[in-house]
Amino acid sequence: MRVATPVFFEPGAPHQMVDLEVDEPGAGEVRVRMVASGICHSCLYAMDGDHAGIPRPIVLGDEGAGVVESVGPGVTSVRPGDAVVVSWAPGCADCATCRMGAPALCKRQPPLGRMADGRTRYHLDGTDVFHYGPATNAPLAVLVERAVVRIDDRMPLDLAALLGCAVTTGVGAVRNTARVRLGDGVAVVGCGGVGASALMAAAASGAYPVVAVDPVTEKFDALREIGATHCVDPREAGAADQIRDLSGGGVDYAFLTTSAAPAFGLATSVLGPRGTCVLIAGYPDGATVTFDPGWLLNGEQRIVGSKYGSSNPPVDVPALVDLYAAGRLPLERLVSGRWPISEVDAAYDALRGGHVTRGLLLMDQP
Ligand SMILES: [Zn+2]
Ligand SMILES: [Zn+2]
Repeated sequence: MRVATPVFFEPGAPHQMVDLEVDEPGAGEVRVRMVASGICHSCLYAMDGDHAGIPRPIVLGDEGAGVVESVGPGVTSVRPGDAVVVSWAPGCADCATCRMGAPALCKRQPPLGRMADGRTRYHLDGTDVFHYGPATNAPLAVLVERAVVRIDDRMPLDLAALLGCAVTTGVGAVRNTARVRLGDGVAVVGCGGVGASALMAAAASGAYPVVAVDPVTEKFDALREIGATHCVDPREAGAADQIRDLSGGGVDYAFLTTSAAPAFGLATSVLGPRGTCVLIAGYPDGATVTFDPGWLLNGEQRIVGSKYGSSNPPVDVPALVDLYAAGRLPLERLVSGRWPISEVDAAYDALRGGHVTRGLLLMDQP
């Protein structure tokens, strides 16, 4: 089937809307008519050339939600018409990490831009067009069955798109990786879609204080509405002292969602004794950070990674829908902009400027 799809051809050039030939779903695959796609920072890295080996032309988008259009042979968990969240971490289902419920840590990833069989499912005039993971910016996406999680109708599909990456990552870092408890002091360094999700989860967990740290001060009112008890501009002199003072000598958890240069130093310097820096941020290839080992020893601090919120999407996504339906995760407040797919570059430019929490790309519905 031919579908008009935004395709990224080369850094510095805008997307082009082109009629792609989209394959039928093969064995164990589903084809999803996407309703909405979230605008994620990892796609910006791909666009700006910060990750090596991203093949082009490519369809971007790593979080989305839609409706199953058709299924290939052997698919059992969904049927045409089912509403689904699209995850970027289907895993292989078979390796040790997948079997322990950590598909984001799977070492048997398909080749970049392709499905596990080495082929792509998009073609343009006889040449292959690649997919950035699930390629949720496509109105019609072919995915392995494990990449979709069926949800019920308590959550609108535009908001459900955010469960594909940002919300699962931010909430999961708090709920699964850190296991924040009532009264823990929390700082969230970098309050885009992932950071704002972590703020919501920390507030819902009874953390106090919940300190939002972000240089875009216009977002502060919105961040307070979703659970921040205090907001700090990291560019201010004494920002770290301010955060330590707010939390009685340092926070129990600092969630680091940005690779911006001073952020790692700030997130680690505001930890109290036995505090933990939860590193969520994706860093460009080859990046390094430095810290004082004496600090780590003498305060028994920890630095831990959290990939995709240490989540197992078939378990976490339904739990997040429950929390949303119960009013504990006001996800509509994360959405700071909506764009039609024809304006995909405007959506990424807004994210690059740091002024959006989460942007959504909305597909034209047939
Ligand atoms: Zn993402
Ligand atoms: Zn695996």
